[in-house]
Amino acid sequence: MSCLFCSIIEGEIPAKKVYEDDSVLAFHDITPAAPVHVLVVPKKHIEKLTDLTDEDSGVMGHILTLMPRLLSELGLEGRGVRVVNNCLEEAGQSVFHIHFHILGGRAFSWPPG
Ligand code: AMP
Ligand code: ZN
Repeated sequence: MSCLFCSIIEGEIPAKKVYEDDSVLAFHDITPAAPVHVLVVPKKHIEKLTDLTDEDSGVMGHILTLMPRLLSELGLEGRGVRVVNNCLEEAGQSVFHIHFHILGGRAFSWPPG
């Protein structure tokens, strides 16, 4: 199985890392859609949101509770941010290793397009 984000996690493909621990990696998106655009991924290969099970609650909770620290380190403390998961092609998912986009540094409209 070849997966782009697993290859980044394994160090086979370079990325601009912003945070790493035993279970999570965060790195800059290669095609930023905002002044700050970082992707946060679990190191475990999970294809998409709808594949999550109770076994994943620890790492998913960890990703959410990491947000204040990541936002602060990215200079976004006190700024509006958008945290996004795209699930399946219809919603814009193009890489099938679950990830959360952190977008910041500009205004965002709602609802998204
Ligand atoms: P999604 O469309 O929600 O699946 O998001 C996938 C994201 O991965 C897109 O925003 C891409 O720009 C980003 N991306 C694709 N290849 C790379 C890469 N080699 N390094 C960093 N980000 C990437
Ligand atoms: Zn993967």
